[in-house]
Amino acid sequence: AKQSGRNRVRTYEAGMDSESAQRLILDRDLRAALTTGELLVHYQPVVEAVSGQPQGFEALVRWAHPQQGLVSPGKFIPVAEDTGLIVPIGTWVLGEACRQAAAWQGRGQALTMSVNVSARQFEQPDFVAIVRDALAESGLDPRLLILELTERVVLRNPEAAAVLLHDLRALGIRIALDDFGTGYSSLGLLKTLPIDVLKIDRSFVQGDSAEVMVGAIVSLAHAFGLKVIAEGVETSEQLAMVQALHCDGVQGYLFARPAPAHELMPVRPGWPVS
Ligand code: C2E
Ligand code: CA
Ligand code: CA
Ligand code: CA
Repeated sequence: AKQSGRNRVRTYEAGMDSESAQRLILDRDLRAALTTGELLVHYQPVVEAVSGQPQGFEALVRWAHPQQGLVSPGKFIPVAEDTGLIVPIGTWVLGEACRQAAAWQGRGQALTMSVNVSARQFEQPDFVAIVRDALAESGLDPRLLILELTERVVLRNPEAAAVLLHDLRALGIRIALDDFGTGYSSLGLLKTLPIDVLKIDRSFVQGDSAEVMVGAIVSLAHAFGLKVIAEGVETSEQLAMVQALHCDGVQGYLFARPAPAHELMPVRPGWPVS
């Protein structure tokens, strides 16, 4: 009994060691990646549902790991959120995305740029100043910038969030509520929060009761004067459905996967319809 007890403790400690060690390694490598240029931003087009014309892009971070290749944000964003490294990463992505959008704006293609914001970033006391600086340094028209926040982030402190969102919008930018419906949605949020866009999570677009869910969300959003973007549109059937249900914008592999900036622009005539 004594022996097995000791083993149990050992196994437990060994398990903890390897998990925390892995996180330490990831954190160390990610910190380095930020300074060595291993982080990249890919852009996924958002198109107008009816015309199929591009209306903008969503910036999505990637890690070009020297050994592991392109690492998806699902693998490292959660760790970066825990360690706080998401703050400098997020600031870098914001700056990069604004510079890219400003470059496209300079070529006469005024397309929106959506940037994801995590809870840690949003809760930085100087977050509004960070956004203001990114706009000033890039010269991007604030009307082209959209910050995407999830309900989860906003619900941590709805009153504080409302104040902050007002300050952000006073910069001239817009706010999107991301992954709508996947968290503990509160319909009250839509009434009280200063937001402009609802993004419908792909689990609803691709799910069993897609028509009912998407239809309900669109009616709700439009009743509050919000634009709706359907995510994860992969098939022409899904596109037909979200068009019929009056979604304003569409994003998904049917049109384009996230890609480096140079592969996406300049937009060809008629792109991406064909
Ligand atoms: P998200 O904000 O909901 O971004 C949409 C995700 O859906 C992206 O995954 C995109 O590549 C993927 N996607 C788009 N269209 C389709 C489709 O038709 N089918 C399928 N199966 N997937 C599609 P990605 O790039 O792996 O990003 C995952 C998540 O990581 C994002 O979800 C976002 O929460 C987070 N993330 C990405 N970049 C950043 C960033 O710069 N900052 C922060 N804080 N989070 C980020
Ligand atoms: Ca997003
Ligand atoms: Ca989303
Ligand atoms: Ca999502």
